[in-house]
Amino acid sequence: MLLDLKPLFAGSRDSLSVDFSMDLSELSFLGVKPLKAPVAISGKIVSRAGVVESQLNCKVEYTAPCDRCCTETVKEYSFDINRTIVQSLENEENDEMVVVEDMKLDLETFCYADIVMSLPTKFLCKDTCRGLCSTCGKNLNEGDCGCTHTEIDPRLSALADLLKE
Ligand SMILES: [Zn+2]
Ligand SMILES: [Zn+2]
Repeated sequence: MLLDLKPLFAGSRDSLSVDFSMDLSELSFLGVKPLKAPVAISGKIVSRAGVVESQLNCKVEYTAPCDRCCTETVKEYSFDINRTIVQSLENEENDEMVVVEDMKLDLETFCYADIVMSLPTKFLCKDTCRGLCSTCGKNLNEGDCGCTHTEIDPRLSALADLLKE
């Protein structure tokens, strides 16, 4: 979606509202496609004292299996994209500034990297997830399985193996 920023740069408007959604359902991340629902982006692009900047909020619904128990879990979060938008960079490079050629802002491209960078690399159904039993595979969040869980320090179990021999 292309947004014409000319009214902002020309000073005839001081804000343009933005309300759209992005279909990222085909985006693969950590082996799954977590963005089953469209990402909703809303807010505005404003011009304040001649400086054009984004005041956008992205709402993400993230669906992926829990790292510990593999239960498919949906979590929602949102984050802001506040960036200065310029027509050209006057001197050195500046990562915080976005350059728009011919005053057109491609909103999808503008938001894409931030959305990808917002994706969680560790994902749990809940912080206290107990995971799966290493012996029988039961989901321990649903109750104990009856296996004896002697949670041994892996270093101690290596020692125990040595002693058995
Ligand atoms: Zn879990
Ligand atoms: Zn078990």
